[in-house]
Amino acid sequence: MKEDIIYNLKQVHQRIEDTCRLSNRNPSDVQLLLATKTVPADKIRIAIEAGETLIGENKMQELRDKDSGLKNLNIERHFIGHLQTNKVKDVLKYVSCIQSLDRLSLAEELNKQLLKEERCIDVFFQVNTSFEESKFGLAPNEVVSFIREVKKYKTLNIKGLMTIGLLDVEKEKMRPSLQLLRKIREEIYDAQIEGITHLKLSMGMSQDLELAIAEGSNMVRVGTSIFGNRFLGKEIWNENIAE
Ligand SMILES: *Cc1c(COP(=O)(O)O)cnc(C)c1O
Repeated sequence: MKEDIIYNLKQVHQRIEDTCRLSNRNPSDVQLLLATKTVPADKIRIAIEAGETLIGENKMQELRDKDSGLKNLNIERHFIGHLQTNKVKDVLKYVSCIQSLDRLSLAEELNKQLLKEERCIDVFFQVNTSFEESKFGLAPNEVVSFIREVKKYKTLNIKGLMTIGLLDVEKEKMRPSLQLLRKIREEIYDAQIEGITHLKLSMGMSQDLELAIAEGSNMVRVGTSIFGNRFLGKEIWNENIAE
């Protein structure tokens, strides 16, 4: 198990590097986030001890359950799943970034809690770039006005955009979602919103990381290619399955 994880990590880093080389990008501009849903703490620990630092969880319950197993490790945790407003306070105990900000009521609730705690947090806006109804995320044409609203909350540091693109066995069908996220970033820059100049794109998963990097991704979120298939029947990659 340990050898597998270490081997898989090497492979994923190689894929990232190869793709960067092909698209004339610097590998240091593409971060790897380990998508660790359903992965137990001892496996995550192996990856961290092999040098990884960034993990993403989809559920409050998993953040809590794994916390003690990850003690004394230097990790940064992001929340990448659908976040219910009533879980905000608990989730904030564990993470430094919410990548799935997708509605004003959530921004409001985060701000309220963060003001109490007198701290700030990083956020990415989740955008639904595949137009699938089953996916959470802002509609592409809402993003600019949403940013203007969220900017009012000084507790939220706007870091970038996140998407789960369309997943398909045919590679080229996955590209338009990824291109769209990049286009939305251009629109945001064109709108010249004060203070919004450097936005990261969090896109690309096990299946589409090459395409995502070619389209400008700054952070790929990878689970399966590192930890193997998630077998639990009720659990699929889709973060939209309610808790
Ligand atoms: C599970 C998940 C990933 C990783 O998916 P894999 O196909 O296992 O690499 C990335 N992003 C989000 C939001 C996820 O829920």
